[in-house]
Formats: sequence, C-alpha cells, structure tokens
Amino acid sequence: MAAYVLPRRYVMPPKDAQCVICHEALAGKTDLARLRCDHFFCFECLSGEAKAFFADSASRPTGARGEQMVLFRCPTCRQDNCCVIERIQKPSGSSLSAAPVADELGGPLREVAVRHSDGTAATWLASYYYATALEDDSLGQSYADCLMTAHHGLFFSRHGLITGRRELAAKWAAVIIGAERGAKVEENMEAFKWFGPAEQDRAILRLHLARMAVCQGHVRKLTKGKDDNTESGSVGVGDDVWLCGVVRRPEINGLEGRVKEVLPPHTQLNKSDVTRYRVSLSVCATQELSLRGDNVLRIPRAARDPLSHLVASLTGMHIN
Ligand SMILES: [Zn+2]
Ligand SMILES: [Zn+2]
Repeated sequence: MAAYVLPRRYVMPPKDAQCVICHEALAGKTDLARLRCDHFFCFECLSGEAKAFFADSASRPTGARGEQMVLFRCPTCRQDNCCVIERIQKPSGSSLSAAPVADELGGPLREVAVRHSDGTAATWLASYYYATALEDDSLGQSYADCLMTAHHGLFFSRHGLITGRRELAAKWAAVIIGAERGAKVEENMEAFKWFGPAEQDRAILRLHLARMAVCQGHVRKLTKGKDDNTESGSVGVGDDVWLCGVVRRPEINGLEGRVKEVLPPHTQLNKSDVTRYRVSLSVCATQELSLRGDNVLRIPRAARDPLSHLVASLTGMHIN
C-alpha cells in the first residue's frame, strides 16, 4: 500500500456528491472530514458516527486474544485503516461562519490548497484527529469519582504517552530511511510533517496529554492538592523533555529532546521576556531548537521505566 501522506492539496468531491450519513450535498459545506481512502463527509456527521461506534462497544468484534477491536471503519468503504480523521475547514470571511479554532485534540491548524468541483481554488485550514478523540468522554471525565480510578487514568494516559513517543521516533526513522540519501534536515522535517502515520502518533499523543491533564486535575481535587504528582517542575540542562504545543512547527510536537542550554529572558540569545531552552532532538541530534518554556515538558526519570512508573502512579511511591 502506498505511504499515507497528509494531503497539502485537496480535490473536493464532485458537484453531485452527498454525505453518506445525512444525504445532503457536500458542495457548499464548509467543515468537512476526509479519510485516507479519499471519502468525504460532513465533519459533524462523521464525528457523530465515531461517537456512536465507540459507545456501542458490545457490537464490536473481538480479536484473537479476546481484546476488543477498536478500529474505526470508513462509513462508505468499510476500510479499517482510517484512524486519522482529516478535518478541512473554510476560514472565516463571511459573518455567517465562525473562524475555525484548533481544539486541543485536533492539533494546530495548517493551511491546505482546496480545489472545488467548479474549478475554483481556495486556501482552507486542516487539522487531524485520532478517531477515539471524537468519542464521548474522550477526556475521561468519568475518572472523577474516586482516587483509584483517577490514578488508573493517569497511569494509562502516561503509558500511552510513553508508547506514543516511541512510536513517533520509529516513524521518524522510517522517514529518514525513505528520504533520499543526503537529504537535508529541513527536507526530512518537511516530509515528517506530512507523513500520515506520524500525524496519527501526534494525534494520539495529544489525546493522552489532554487525558493526563484531566486525571491530574481529578487527583489534585480528590486529595486537595496533597498528592500533587505533577509531571512538570523546573527544567534544567541535561533534562529529557517532551515537545508539545508548538504551533508554528507542528511536526516537532511529540518528539523528545535534551536541554542543552537555558536561555534567560532579555539576554543576547533570547530577546523575549520568557525563559527559553535550547533543545537537541533525540531523533536528530544535529537539530537544535530554541523553545519557550511552555513548549517543553520535563520527562520524569520514572517515565523511562513503565514498571516503576506503574508503581509510582498507583501508589505515589518512587522506586529506583
Ligand atoms: Zn453529513
Ligand atoms: Zn472510505
């Protein structure tokens, strides 16, 4: 199968095409979803399908080991490799439509070229969701009831982060191998940015990060802040960090790096009024970036080892 590359240009469906869910014409819609099989829907309709699919867990088939299959299928062609939902929105311009706003689960918005069936071209905005991000309670509000479930939620979301980060590093390696010999770092980065499987991992990471924040909030509330168990804390030289929330270079979100230098505000290397960090990426050590503090999340040492992390998360005790 050909590599899944996120389109930078969209050819919109023909004039008479309908959304198979609501049977309305797709022409004229300003908020669309597309799956990698090139089927289009109203975003709202597809989002409703995803919610219904994940809510109806009893009807899902189970795998060889009895685990539930949670692969969302395309409502048109039933392909099950459609975990990334591409959302394409028309930017505001008319007073009738609100400006698209990136939500925390759909990531930063990117400009894409759109060609309509009447031959006109426009620039729209795209964002990308992991299918389970659209299910009801995707942020695990149900973890609110007791401390144990909140800790469990914390563990599973952290574990998802660890796994997701490893997966992303593997995707980076795949891009490098696929790239032409001698390709420049910037070219590899560009390829990585539009590489579908990597965006799938970034979308999963966004979901886990948001879930973790919710669970941490529950733990804090239930323990009245006594068992803070926070991930952040001060960042220093040599710390391993996770990059997140970088809007202008979304392709680096989810990657790990190591802090090389702390750049205090109002200095020659950092004219801004917030602390910045010079970070070398673990997937590409020659690439050094200067990042704002809120784009850098320290990875605690416990997170390196899932077993000790499990113990720490569930009991609040740290072992080495
Ligand atoms: Zn529809
Ligand atoms: Zn399809």
